[in-house]
Amino acid sequence: MLEIEEYAKKYNIPIMQKDGIEFLIDFIKKNNIKNILEIGTAIGYSAIKMASVSEDINVVSIERDKVRYSEAVKNVNKCNLNDRIKLINDDAFNVELNDKFDLIFIDAAKAQNIKFFLKFEKNLGSNKFIITDNLNFHGLVNSSEKMSKNLRQLVKKIKNYIEFLKDNKNYETIFYNIGDGISISKKRG
Ligand code: SAH
Ligand code: MG
Repeated sequence: MLEIEEYAKKYNIPIMQKDGIEFLIDFIKKNNIKNILEIGTAIGYSAIKMASVSEDINVVSIERDKVRYSEAVKNVNKCNLNDRIKLINDDAFNVELNDKFDLIFIDAAKAQNIKFFLKFEKNLGSNKFIITDNLNFHGLVNSSEKMSKNLRQLVKKIKNYIEFLKDNKNYETIFYNIGDGISISKKRG
């Protein structure tokens, strides 16, 4: 695990922060989550952490970047979790799944959160959860700092997503100021 964290640091790969991942793991335990879909594997850090909670947890995780995907495959094999973590190397928008999940964890391109949510909510079981990471985006979502145009647009999209969650009557969403900002949306029925 330490090795993965060091690799992420060296190559600047945005894996979940320590307190964020602890929070996620605790949530998985408390809510008896067994089937997880993750959008954005990177090198497999959060997928491995989630699958390690208990031996009856299965994770499907999607990563579009080839190099990161290959690194994730290596890491999952090293941890002997290849029978419980299924890695898919594709753009999530090209992936069609029929399974139902207890938890969908959205942690990919931050400007696309609404689209990921709408594409995969059909794969969510009743009364189950969608969790989204990086809603503070390194503190920039609530900052008056001067930013480049691209960054401003990204921050605006994250804000739009937060509004989308607040307005979405099919889910009850709670926002947590933990890690880089996490939301938990529980499907009503
Ligand atoms: N969940 C990981 C970190 C993911 S970083 C962890 O905490 O360990 C976000 C990843 O999402 C990046 O590796 C990026 O390549 C991937 N990504 C972004 N948009 C994507 C898309 N449309 N489909 C698949 N992967 C995507
Ligand atoms: Mg993240």
